[in-house]
Amino acid sequence: MGQTIRTPEERPLETYDAIVVGGGPCGATAASELARAGRSVLLLDRAGRIKPCGGAVPPRLIRDFQIPNHLLKARITKARMISPTDKAVDMPIEGGYVGMVDRCEFDEWLRERAARDGAVRKTGSFERLERDAEGTAVICYRPGPAPGAKEEHRVRARMVIAADGARSQVAKQAGIPGAESVPCVFAYHEIVQSPRSQGEAFEADRCDVYYQGKLSPDFYAWVFPHGESTSVGVGSANKGFSLRGAVGALRGATGMDASATIRREGAPIPLKPLKRWDNGRDVLTAGDAAGIVAPASGEGIYYAMLGGQLAAEAVDKALATANPKVLASARKRFMREHGRVFWVLGMMQKFWYCSDRRRERFVKICEDPDVQYLTWQAYMEKKLVRARPMAHVRIFLKDMAHLLRVASPS
Ligand SMILES: Cc1cc2nc3c(=O)[nH]c(=O)nc-3n(C[C@H](O)[C@H](O)[C@H](O)COP(=O)(O)OP(=O)(O)OC[C@H]3O[C@@H](n4cnc5c(N)ncnc54)[C@H](O)[C@@H]3O)c2cc1C
Repeated sequence: MGQTIRTPEERPLETYDAIVVGGGPCGATAASELARAGRSVLLLDRAGRIKPCGGAVPPRLIRDFQIPNHLLKARITKARMISPTDKAVDMPIEGGYVGMVDRCEFDEWLRERAARDGAVRKTGSFERLERDAEGTAVICYRPGPAPGAKEEHRVRARMVIAADGARSQVAKQAGIPGAESVPCVFAYHEIVQSPRSQGEAFEADRCDVYYQGKLSPDFYAWVFPHGESTSVGVGSANKGFSLRGAVGALRGATGMDASATIRREGAPIPLKPLKRWDNGRDVLTAGDAAGIVAPASGEGIYYAMLGGQLAAEAVDKALATANPKVLASARKRFMREHGRVFWVLGMMQKFWYCSDRRRERFVKICEDPDVQYLTWQAYMEKKLVRARPMAHVRIFLKDMAHLLRVASPS
């Protein structure tokens, strides 16, 4: 529990070692880690909205963060890549699966785990970051969602973790450089009832990924099954492009225009890690708030949870040493592990997602067994495999051949 400290105006304010703003995968993980380390921690999350998300998670996440089986709504055993000319390439997963979670259930389970670990959970909406007379951070929030609970509450924190998602208010108010203008793709999806019958157009254990300029001019569209329901969605950074129109077209093309619609929702996906995650003093961003979603794929849940863990470790160390410079270690450690892959994925997105001619080639490349093997290993385990060095060499040579063909006039 946080201790109560009197401010100079004699108003008692509860004080925590750390306040985590945002109870998504990042914030809930950070709160769990800090509570387990023996820190007093408050997890503040505004309720009432399910995070719009495809819910695909890799085995590495399920293992590292001890996710129980009952949270997996489906196990995906292959992906189907679909080209602009409707050529379909199946990529089966050798001896593994991708888990599909329902974010409503998943996020709440993570928040409850943080509470079991010792974090204090509060429901409310962050409003302002203030400073008391000693310069300590004061988080002002409106408790909710109870109607009528309008008065503002204030709590003090020695450290603050900004895990309030893309376009983080906490990061902006803390003056984290770049937080004002993170480049984003906007993603929109419709959750529909899964088709009863399976066939070419839909399989309950297959994720379909559409690389077609008519469905997305600069990203991709998807059909992700979740057992009873299915996410049909699309992303694009092009503000003039109709995401709703594209999802409508995809539902029509797959016969899912006949399925009942459960929810329609969208959210931004940040696609570039911020250059700095901390304010040099007592605020550290993590997860979507720090911009750590993989370019090209838009995968962010694993990175958010890892980011939450690294942020918690940095905050714990900063508290123990009273040295705010330690906060920078969260970004350093993350980028050392994943910076190269993010860079490669960023280049891939720029190069392959810009014309139907290139998308056609990209899907063609996915037929290659070496590409399939390395792609799945990189996704599932979050590391580049060294077990088959010749596969890397073969892919490099084939990539060069494809690039040269793409660059030459057809
Ligand atoms: C349509 C779509 C599909 C996606 N599909 C996938 C996928 O299949 N697989 C994958 O890995 N990633 C996917 N992503 C990305 C993934 O959802 C995010 O990267 C991930 O949720 C980031 O976690 P987070 O905890 O950092 O942020 P979030 O999940 O956004 O959580 C932020 C939390 O902060 C809270 N919050 C926000 N503002 C305040 C405030 N003022 N006060 C209090 N609390 C606040 C919110 O309630 C929320 O709980 C998708 C994203 C979108 C938009």
